[in-house]
Amino acid sequence: MDTILVVNAGSSSVKFQIFSVEGEGNLQRRIKGQIDGIGSRPRLRANGQNGDPMADRAYPIEAVADVPAAMSVAGAWLRDELNINPIAVGHRVVHGGPDYANPVLIDHGVVGRLERYVSLAPLHQPHNLAPIRTILNNFPTLPQVACFDTAFHRDHDALADYYAIPHQLHAEGIRRYGFHGLSYEYIAKRLSQVASNVAGGRVIVAHLGSGASMCAIKNGKSVESTMGFTALDGLAMGTRAGQLDPGVVLYLIAEKGMSVSKVQDFLYRDCGLKGLSGVSNDMRELQTSGDPRAAFAVDYFVYRVGLHAGMLVAALQGLDAFVFTAGIGENSATIRARIAERLTWLGVTLDASANAANASKISGADSRVPVFVIPTDEELMIAQHTLTLLMNPKTQNQKRERVS
Ligand code: ADP
Repeated sequence: MDTILVVNAGSSSVKFQIFSVEGEGNLQRRIKGQIDGIGSRPRLRANGQNGDPMADRAYPIEAVADVPAAMSVAGAWLRDELNINPIAVGHRVVHGGPDYANPVLIDHGVVGRLERYVSLAPLHQPHNLAPIRTILNNFPTLPQVACFDTAFHRDHDALADYYAIPHQLHAEGIRRYGFHGLSYEYIAKRLSQVASNVAGGRVIVAHLGSGASMCAIKNGKSVESTMGFTALDGLAMGTRAGQLDPGVVLYLIAEKGMSVSKVQDFLYRDCGLKGLSGVSNDMRELQTSGDPRAAFAVDYFVYRVGLHAGMLVAALQGLDAFVFTAGIGENSATIRARIAERLTWLGVTLDASANAANASKISGADSRVPVFVIPTDEELMIAQHTLTLLMNPKTQNQKRERVS
């Protein structure tokens, strides 16, 4: 059985999935696993395609001290115990910089280029690249593909891509990249199956998870995003503030004496829902908390989604559909209802029982704009890209050259 391994590596966890390649290039998810607690309490957990448990084991801290070690443990489990030898590996890589508008077959040169973008995504990029290097060193002929969160947004018009700073800085790469692109790409594809009549129109997708952003999609292509140069911009998130006057950063440095790394940690880890509430970065906990600051954080989150929706409607010059996705968007009927209230001016209404049931279409019969809930699947998108690149005759030649 030919399989593809998909890897999504973060600072303290490596998530992985195995897809089998079926007839006509169809992909079937077989295994979903992760090693979390890297460097603290490492644990491998995995489930089969029906959710049946396949592994749940703890490791001593020194056995899985970092991401490369976690990749090796997961790889050994797949290979030695399950006899799974993937034909290729697809990786989620947060930042493709200005260079990459499409997934790419990885070699040492590509890794070198992607290392240049570490400073643009300091919390993600180094961890995304670590397992790539491990596999490149241990299995140099195994094809690996990098799939970027920025790629879906690379066709933005210059007006959406620029900051109002001198051109030279844009040329150096200071641009509004946008993120969560693999999720948006998947949703755009799914929408054409779920609601083909609107998929070619003007669509806003709200990816509301612990990282959160929104994307304006026109005719299946991203035209605007709430995120920019880094994944700090836009909506308030679990621990990130979202849109912030750069003057605040200057103030933190000049008046509070904070170092660059202190400010970085602060902006990525201590703001957003966590900073506002002082309670938690987790939406579920905020919704059940009796603390008024938790309620304020939820109000703030909803308000900012509404505000940014207005901006995206302006970019699209209208709205034909609105889609909720990711942890909060897929699961919280309350937050969806509250956001929909903020969109009443656009003629949005919800069907309360469809919304409560997390149905696929949740707008009311009288809604001027249809509203959908579509679970995202970034891993399937990565597996599809990996297979597509693998089947590409050009890639076949490159593979042959490497083997010979
Ligand atoms: P990540 O960005 O880490 O992939 P997810 O997409 O998994 O994040 O989303 C995590 C967020 O989704 C958390 O804030 C969590 O509280 C929230 N969430 C998950 N289920 C629910 C729910 N039923 N109600 C409200 N929030 C939820």
